[in-house]
Amino acid sequence: MSNNRRPATGSVRAVIFDFDGTLTPLTLDFSLLRARVEQIAREYVDQDIIDRQKDQYILEMIHAIEDEIDQSTASFRDRAFRELDRLEIEACRNKELYPYARAVLSYLKEHNIRAGIITRSSATVIRTVFPDLDQYIDATVTRDDTRYVKPDPHQLRMAVEALRVEHAAAVIVGDHPTDIAAGKALGAMTAGVLSGRCSRTDFVDAGADHVFDDIRGVIGLVSSGAVRAGGTQR
Ligand SMILES: [Mg+2]
Repeated sequence: MSNNRRPATGSVRAVIFDFDGTLTPLTLDFSLLRARVEQIAREYVDQDIIDRQKDQYILEMIHAIEDEIDQSTASFRDRAFRELDRLEIEACRNKELYPYARAVLSYLKEHNIRAGIITRSSATVIRTVFPDLDQYIDATVTRDDTRYVKPDPHQLRMAVEALRVEHAAAVIVGDHPTDIAAGKALGAMTAGVLSGRCSRTDFVDAGADHVFDDIRGVIGLVSSGAVRAGGTQR
């Protein structure tokens, strides 16, 4: 937008945010989403196939069940995703970004640090909650773009490549250990935020480089020239 952006002050060239619980309050009822997907799945597969997925996250469960269905139609997957979309859009009605989120994103922009979003949610949901997203965000990768969402590092790799920075110059910021797992697998810096449902201990156990109360902690990180924990400070 402007040609007179100040240069980045730290080694961080890009910040990739998770969405729910990180940029916006977490309003999803995961057990309701799972119950509805299981209800649809029962029309296609036996209960034991569903039971085998009990430790999987919902998206992975949908794909695993789809792989079990002996037919070439994608009707189970389409129905399951339509239902997820419907419930998620319902849950995000009247939802807003955290009140400080745009200020943090503006700071990054002013300092020529690229910003991305990776989410297990859909593009429709994030644009419903964040309609002016394009003013702040340079790359978005949702579940509409890839089956291999976090904790798989593929989704984060897509975002980092779209932002055209080195993996080590990117920091992933999220409210869940899956965000940290994706970052570590890719060799990016990682920061957990306590604005979702996870605790400091969860992030320490996940091996996060940094833990912040919320995304405002990112400003200190990018302005201090911080590198990965255990690395050197400039
Ligand atoms: Mg989240």
